[in-house]
Amino acid sequence: MLLYNSLTRNRDEFVPRVSGKVSMYTCGPTVYHYAHIGNLRTYTMEDVLEKYLRYLGYDVKRVMNITDVGHLSSDGDTGEDKMLKGARREHKTVLEIAKFYTDAFFSDCDKLNIKRPDVVEPATNCIPEFIAMIETLLKKGYAYEAGGNIYFDTSKLDNYYAFNDFNEEDLEVGVRDSVEEDTNKKNKADFVLWFTKSKFEDQELKWESPWGIGYPGWHIECSCIAAKHLGEYLDIHCGGIDNAFPHHTNEIAQSEATYGHEWCRHWFHVHHLNTNSGKMSKSKGEFLTVSLLEEKGYAPLVYRFFCMQSHYRKNLVFSWENLDNAKNAYNKLVARIAALSPSEAESVDEAAFAEGKKRFTDALDNDLNTSLAVTALYDVFKLKTNDKTKLALIADFERVLDLGAVAAAQKLNEDKKAESSSDAPDVAPELLAYINEKIEARKAAKKAKNFALADAIRDELLSKGITLLDTREGTKFTIS
Ligand code: AMP
Ligand code: ZN
Repeated sequence: MLLYNSLTRNRDEFVPRVSGKVSMYTCGPTVYHYAHIGNLRTYTMEDVLEKYLRYLGYDVKRVMNITDVGHLSSDGDTGEDKMLKGARREHKTVLEIAKFYTDAFFSDCDKLNIKRPDVVEPATNCIPEFIAMIETLLKKGYAYEAGGNIYFDTSKLDNYYAFNDFNEEDLEVGVRDSVEEDTNKKNKADFVLWFTKSKFEDQELKWESPWGIGYPGWHIECSCIAAKHLGEYLDIHCGGIDNAFPHHTNEIAQSEATYGHEWCRHWFHVHHLNTNSGKMSKSKGEFLTVSLLEEKGYAPLVYRFFCMQSHYRKNLVFSWENLDNAKNAYNKLVARIAALSPSEAESVDEAAFAEGKKRFTDALDNDLNTSLAVTALYDVFKLKTNDKTKLALIADFERVLDLGAVAAAQKLNEDKKAESSSDAPDVAPELLAYINEKIEARKAAKKAKNFALADAIRDELLSKGITLLDTREGTKFTIS
């Protein structure tokens, strides 16, 4: 599979270190508010990547952190802890809002068919691991103490700017409120590993450490949580593109300084969901949630479909009109799947199956091109093959796309059946089952162009006083 790697700025062949196994790390949410649909675009595309790797046969272990401490208002390590701000907003404790928004995040993920990672670890669970890595960095001379805080010394690295496309100016990211120059830093790009001195005296969560009572920086949590569950090497690290700098750059600095070798080979970054006024962001406070989409009558999986229709390395512009188009297309897709009616007698046509599957894997092997994979899904309807093969292909693609389209089509058919049986004559359940069985058998016979059999079934029923009536809504019956 070719997959763009932010580290090499190239579409590289994805090759895990250990054959057949993939260690995958994902930056989790900062749980001070609901995830917005921009955050969830990133998690949706990462989910497709994970499912495609599994589809290819890899044994994937995926780890995600939950940021419940240390992420300050500005990614450049200044301002107030986002969690503390959230707690104050809601008159709750930090741990209360962490629990509430972590649960809300996974409930949104469930609605979008985003699989829960194999390991989910809150940062506050791993304080001893953070302290141990910081001690190693101090011992190796990559870290220093200044003004009560411990900093990473970026000048000790040959190439701190690992992604090669950022510079000091890019540090001025995030919210500008209360951003002040930190005069303790030796170099502008240095970042905090452990805080003991904070301007904000009401920082709620603090722990003992060799450097005094304090709390960890945001970046150290990902390096340590990855190490705790995946060891010294990662095959792939994922996140939104805004996290490439400084967050991921700092993760690389810490981990490689600790181990003395390359840490993660492949970096997968999802580009932003934008609105007309720019990047959707939690800190700006104006954002759309999954619940809001539901309130407005959009099934969450319509949003997943909307994400699938564009490439993860392009910014995606959200508008209600675009979402309406996705909703219509999704509903049509479900209806087309519902209209497929495989018969018992059919078997999967291997050649057509291979042809359809190749279009799908060609799309995803080419830098996870999900919009082409969706086209491959539509192409299934054009294949010159039976409905059983078409349904088998769609079910196969759904292992990756996970649009819930097959399930929605089944439900559509069940609802239709219930509707047509609700105006069926009042008959005993056994008789109804018998009639429905005959109706299905006749339908299959007609499909197989065995009209003699179809007529024989109709006549058999007629001899029992049951008359079949073919209507646009399906076959109905009357009993005399
Ligand atoms: P956060 O909860 O702010 O730490 O962000 C969670 C994830 O969402 C990270 O991977 C971010 O890079 C990503 N992200 C933030 N804003 C957007 C956006 N507008 N579009 C896509 N991904 C985003
Ligand atoms: Zn991270």
